Amino acid sequence: MQILKLIMCFALFFIVSSIQAQYISNVTKPDLSTPKITDASVLSVKYANTILESEMNKHLHIIASDKMGGRETGFEGNVLAAEYIKEQLKKWDVKPPKGMTDYFQPIALTYTSWDKTVLSIGDQTFRNLWDFISIPKDNNDLPSFTADEVQFLGYGIDQKNQKDYKKKKVKNKVILINEGEPMLNDSIYKLTGTTKPAGWTLEKKIALAQKKGVKLVLVLPSDFKATLNEKRRYVLSPNVTLDNVVGKKVNSPNVIYVSSNIAKAIIGEGGEEKIQTARDQMAKKGKFGPVIYATSLKADFTKKQLLIEGRNIAAYFEGKSKKDEYVIISAHYDHIGQRGDVIYYGADDNGSGTTTLLEITEALALAKKEGNAPERSILVIWMTGEEKGLLGSEYYSEHPIVPISQTVADINIDMVGRQDDKYAAQKEKSYIYVIGSDRLSTDLHKINEKVNNDFSKLVMDYTYNDENDPNRYYFRSDHYNFAKKDIPSIFFFSGVHADYHQPTDTPDKIMYDKMEVIGRHAFHLLWELASRPERIRVDGEIK
Ligand SMILES: [Zn+2]
Repeated sequence: MQILKLIMCFALFFIVSSIQAQYISNVTKPDLSTPKITDASVLSVKYANTILESEMNKHLHIIASDKMGGRETGFEGNVLAAEYIKEQLKKWDVKPPKGMTDYFQPIALTYTSWDKTVLSIGDQTFRNLWDFISIPKDNNDLPSFTADEVQFLGYGIDQKNQKDYKKKKVKNKVILINEGEPMLNDSIYKLTGTTKPAGWTLEKKIALAQKKGVKLVLVLPSDFKATLNEKRRYVLSPNVTLDNVVGKKVNSPNVIYVSSNIAKAIIGEGGEEKIQTARDQMAKKGKFGPVIYATSLKADFTKKQLLIEGRNIAAYFEGKSKKDEYVIISAHYDHIGQRGDVIYYGADDNGSGTTTLLEITEALALAKKEGNAPERSILVIWMTGEEKGLLGSEYYSEHPIVPISQTVADINIDMVGRQDDKYAAQKEKSYIYVIGSDRLSTDLHKINEKVNNDFSKLVMDYTYNDENDPNRYYFRSDHYNFAKKDIPSIFFFSGVHADYHQPTDTPDKIMYDKMEVIGRHAFHLLWELASRPERIRVDGEIK
């Protein structure tokens, strides 16, 4: 009996673990035993054939030109790119979605940057982006602030065996905390006794400080230089937030990452002894008495905010028999703009997707003109603000143009014009990385594979679909905001290269023939998803 139970236990374990057995992460080769369907009486073949590398080349040299200045959301080049897309839509006689008089979906965005960042301790003045760093959108103004003491609070943790707040009066005070968690040795965390931390992220610590009424948190990172490198870009370019948040208070204490120079200025001569005593107490009792440094701290932080209008761009094609079901195809058209006079052209990221969508739209417009359309409606969307944190698609998912429940799928295209090192070494051009296809809908995954075998014969590489992919690409482009709403989403991507987010991502380096093949594949998939009798299912849905 016991043995039977054990066997059943094992069987169950295997079943459960194979259900949870992740997402596809291998490479699938096309079936070359069957020929490609090239018969032009097949509608999707006829119209896919009008997607041409020569036209992609022409569009992309305009989208990624000097004039468009890197298309940063909120800047002139981005507006020019939107106008260019609009011009093409008009030329092809494409309709905006129902209820919209224009192709543009306006989005309010707030740009926040520092106007002033002054920090001094005693007679030492410190420099922003040198001795300290503070992120404008996460902070409130802190004008003419003075404090005559700073409390050292260890790690700023409050839990069973680590009570850093115990017996401390911190309301409206300045605290200094270490980032991270205390360690017993190089690899063992004190709080868990294992190699895994207890989850005290900085966000969690700041939320706790907020609850305790702390005014200003000085964070001492374990590696200030690394923190500086990581956060610098959030300070140098303006922070962008969805909606109008001008003048709105951030519900959090102010946070400044400080260098060890600043920590030393606070602690002063002989101050380390106080910290050592605190450490000893913590090791013995799990808590320590107040460690207060008398110091004259002066801060003067004020922000500058600007309300800007961004826009997603939407083209609409009405379906024949299932008008109220929609398939979306998306690509972001923004990039990261300029630094001084240096233009970041973003030809691959994501001029390639922008252009691919233009060609797909032109093919759909031609089909419509000839009285041909799939059964379902199609929405083509050029997203803005992707580089600012997927803002355009986040806005779209909260303010959808067509109902979310009626949205069948999203096909997202981001960077499809280049070859990465792996495939350059194999001399293989006809490949694509596919991400997300099987995460919500097995149907979507199977259909994409079938469409590939029927029409495209691409190598489908699912490496980045692995849920443990350290690059986390699944979370890093616009399809993710659809997936979050349970809309099956598939992301096409041809991989990274040395020019990624560099001024050297230029249109002369694009492989237009490769883009044409991918553009046609995306078109076939779009057409199939919009045509098939049954709407694709989300896994786990009752059939
Ligand atoms: Zn991109």
